[in-house]
Parts: sequence; structure tokens; C-alpha cells
Amino acid sequence: SFHLLAVDGGGTKTLAVITDSKGSILGEGKEGASNYQVTGKEMAIKALTASIQEALANVNVPNGGMIHFEKIVFALAGIDTLTDEIEVRGIVEKTIKQVGLSTEKLLVENDCLSALLGATQNKAGALLISGTGSIVFAHDGQGNFYRTGGWGYRVGDEGSGYWIGKEAIRSILKMNDGREKETILSKLILQEFGFKKVEDLYNWVYSSAYCVDDVSALTTLVEEAYKMGDGVSKGILDEAAEELTLLLETTIKKAGIAKEEFQLILQGGVIQNNHYIRDIVLDRLKEKAEKVKIIDTDQKPITFIIQRGLNLKWGL
Ligand code: BGC
Repeated sequence: SFHLLAVDGGGTKTLAVITDSKGSILGEGKEGASNYQVTGKEMAIKALTASIQEALANVNVPNGGMIHFEKIVFALAGIDTLTDEIEVRGIVEKTIKQVGLSTEKLLVENDCLSALLGATQNKAGALLISGTGSIVFAHDGQGNFYRTGGWGYRVGDEGSGYWIGKEAIRSILKMNDGREKETILSKLILQEFGFKKVEDLYNWVYSSAYCVDDVSALTTLVEEAYKMGDGVSKGILDEAAEELTLLLETTIKKAGIAKEEFQLILQGGVIQNNHYIRDIVLDRLKEKAEKVKIIDTDQKPITFIIQRGLNLKWGL
């Protein structure tokens, strides 16, 4: 019988699912980050391997020997250049070997591109991710793809969860210096970590305990503070919305679809859960692209990645 393995790997979590030919989920496994730019290769292999093994545990597959999948799709954050592509191929091949899988049809591609292709198929469209990282891909409907942003936590990912968390920490340091007015944000974040002083937070930043997903998780505190009327937090969210709008507008312009009808998909914790940011981004976009159709804002990314796998015809 037909089995598809689809994997969605990002800077905070990894989700592996096994489906039948209709895309119904038979088994799933969840682990931590598998973006190798964030975790390094070894940890990425660990997270991928463990998530697939968990998914397999729920499915009745023949014991002994290799487990055969009709199709395997890895949609992973951190595939940004040709070098990344080669590195991540290596990571995936090691993972597949460790788990004991076989397939003739293996696809390894960027998470955003994969979900866009799954969601829009051959039609014009754009997909914005703002989760731990941020990026936009657009398709002009004629086989051409355009990318903006997604340059990772160190120097890019504007408007993402990591970026919001980092801006929050930066603001707290400024408050501590007296460069910015002290607000509730500082207290909320210190409390979250169980730190007494800003200095403790600073020490954590340069300690080995520092990690991308912990910074990204601070986004919910910035939202909380914003809801309590905190001006600094509002400023950070406004700037995030501005950056995400810029990502979208730039990509749509590059693809030449601003005046056309196209589908827009929004993915990731920040843009799917934060209505304040989402409303700003969508309002601004509608001014530039009147015929945009916003689809499936509640859909999980894995849904589109499964679709990508099911639709794909190899050898084309
Ligand atoms: C990664 C991209 C990814 C994006 C969204 C960025 O940090 O560099 O490859 O597409 O996050 O997950």
C-alpha cells in the first residue's frame, strides 16, 4: 500500500507525518529544531531521525529490512543556498539510512517553497512564513519563483519570532542603560527566565544555554505586554509588521503579480496567531494588490507539504 513521508522542519520544531495516498495522517512524530543553521548537523539529524521513528511507531509497517515509502518530502528551514542544499541532502541521507527507509522519490527543499508549491500548485501565489524565521516565496503562475528574506537568525529573519524576541532583549538592555523608558516588558521577560537582574539576562545571552527557540518564544511576552498597553512592545510589533509587509511587497513586485489575481498563504506562529501583526500586513498588502485572495490562514504547514508530496510527479 502507498505511504508518503512528509517532514516539516524549522528553527523550533520538527514534525514528521506518514500518510496514505489520500493524505490522511497515519502516524506523526514531533521533535525540536532541525534547521541545521540553528542546531548544527548532528542535532538536526537527531531531531529528524527521532521524529520519523515516532511517526513510524504509530504505523503498521513490515518488520525487518528497509521500510519502503512511495514518496518522501523533506521541507526544511535552512535551505537557502546551493551549499545549504548539499549539506542538507547529506543530513537527510544520513537520517534515512539511520531509520532504515528506502524510496526512489526523495525531495529535499526549502520549507517555504515546498508549502507554496503544495498550496497553489500551478497557480500564481505567495507564501509568507513568520515563525521562528521569516521568508516569502512567490510564484508567477508560469513556473518562475521569487524569494525574499529568510537569511537566518544571525543576520536576517526580520519580523520573525526570533527577531521579535531579540528586539525585546535589546530594548531591555536599553532600558537598563537609561536609553529607553523602563516598561513592563522588562519585568515580564526577567520573570519568565526567573532572573533577578538585567545582568543575568545578558549573561544568559552569551552563555552556552542561549538558544534561538527560547528567544523566539519571548514573542508571546511581547504580545502580552502589548495587550497591557506597553508602548515599547507595540513599537516592536509595528516594526515586525512593517518588515513582513516589505518582504511580501518586494516579492510580489519581483514576480509581477501585484495587479493579478493570486493566492496568499500565511504560515508560522507569529503571522497565524498574532492578529495585530496579521491585520497590519494584510491591510497594507491589499492597498498594493487588490485582487489578492487570502487562503487557509488556519492550515498547518504540514498540510501543504503533504499536498506537495502527493501532487509531485517525478521526472518532470
Ligand atoms: C531560514 C529559511 C526558512 C525560514 C522560514 C529562515 O531562518 O533561513 O530557510 O525558509 O527561516 O522557516
